[in-house]
Amino acid sequence: MKMFKIRKEKMGGVLMENLLTIATFAGVIIGIGVGVGIKNHEDPTNPWLPRDVMYLKFIGTLFLNMLKSVIIPLIIPSLIASIGSLDLSLSGKIGLRAIVYYMATTIFAVILGIILVVSIKPGVTEESGNSNVTDTKHQRNVTTADTMMDLVRNCFPPNIPQALLQQYQTQIVYPTMEPEKFGDPDPMDKNTWKVKSNWTDSTNILGLVVFSIATGIAIALSGEDGIPLLRFFQSVSIVMMKVTNWIIHLAPIGVLFLIAGQMAEMDDISKEFEKLGWYFGTVLLGLGIHGLIVLPLLYTIVTRTLPFRFLLNMGNAYMTAFGTASSSATLPVTIESLEEKNGVDSRISRFVLPIGATINMDGTALYEAVAAIFIAQMSGITPSIGQVAAISITATAASIGAAGIPQAGLVTMVMVLDTVGLPSESISIILSLDWLLDRFRTAINVLGDSIGAGIVNHLSQKELEQMNQRQNSDPENLHMDNIKMVFSCNKYNVLKSQ
Ligand code: ASP
Repeated sequence: MKMFKIRKEKMGGVLMENLLTIATFAGVIIGIGVGVGIKNHEDPTNPWLPRDVMYLKFIGTLFLNMLKSVIIPLIIPSLIASIGSLDLSLSGKIGLRAIVYYMATTIFAVILGIILVVSIKPGVTEESGNSNVTDTKHQRNVTTADTMMDLVRNCFPPNIPQALLQQYQTQIVYPTMEPEKFGDPDPMDKNTWKVKSNWTDSTNILGLVVFSIATGIAIALSGEDGIPLLRFFQSVSIVMMKVTNWIIHLAPIGVLFLIAGQMAEMDDISKEFEKLGWYFGTVLLGLGIHGLIVLPLLYTIVTRTLPFRFLLNMGNAYMTAFGTASSSATLPVTIESLEEKNGVDSRISRFVLPIGATINMDGTALYEAVAAIFIAQMSGITPSIGQVAAISITATAASIGAAGIPQAGLVTMVMVLDTVGLPSESISIILSLDWLLDRFRTAINVLGDSIGAGIVNHLSQKELEQMNQRQNSDPENLHMDNIKMVFSCNKYNVLKSQ
């Protein structure tokens, strides 16, 4: 009887602890239910108007806006403060571990995707082979080299305030785009191409991350002189964490309306599934194997602990990723869950997560590889071994280059298609279901980042301990150390008081 009571109390405790995750999960399910209900009961003579959908999406949009609004004020100061307070002679190792993890898991995801799509062959049908690929080849307007150079250019923005708003993008202008000027020249004649620099409206997170890392390193090297600035960024980051915590509590309602609104906008989901079902299933299977077997196994091997609790504690982050389809927007939730529930040191989480959320996208990498080969299969092309190898490399680069925003992977897909000689227009084959696949791959991207932070945290215990000891034994660093103590105490007080 007593044991039963204790078990009941324990269950109650676990439920209370995970109430927000359970509520967010309920939000996802109810959102899907509402979406399906709307589609099933829609009167064909009187369908939902874009304005009705806008009303339905209203609350979801507010939630998304709130999350987006804290990305920059939280991520930049956190990154600067965590690097600024690191002991640089030791933190190189931490960074190296993170990079090795990012590269290894991304490449593994790509290989897994290729194995699945080549063996399942979702795009090989009787009709495939009819479309003439080379005919439309001249329409492609971005090459792999252009995209890679844009990526590097975006790492070094010329103007930081501008980087908050815009990204650089190369555009090729063909004479066929202006026929009145050129008559009808050969579009394959490269002499007639013009290169245009374009600034597109989207935050250049990569550039901001690079600049923040440089600032953090400079602070760490500046000793006493850097302390006021370090204090400032620590303070901003603590205050923003409090705001984030408030927003996270709105996730159940937010994701409900985001998903319901998105589904109400769809034309006919079952028809799309009929057409693209095998492709959808292949990507989903790959994401499932990678996120639920490979990464948890890696975690268990490295940390020698079972991954279930760790994964469960991150539930809220996965659900928010699914609801928002954006790993950047989910970043505040990921940081909070990792630090508060999984006990990851904030020096690690705030160092590796913002970088991970911008460059480590296992789900996107897997999807890019599967989608490119699927489109090639649909077009009657069987990629050669060399092309498959090229697809693996470009899919990895495309996932690094994709921003953590909805359907960014679709944009960088162009460069993967380019390696098989497919025009960017052929993306339209997979367009209709991409919004849904995007949600699954974003959840796996976030899962990959969080497991990475957990693994790096485990492997870096010695360095963290050494940093603590070095600060304690070095009187010159005492002042710095006090600030860090105050930083962590404040953070916990702030969060516990909510
Ligand atoms: N939406 C994804 C993310 O934010 C990127 C993508 O694959 O489109 O992680």
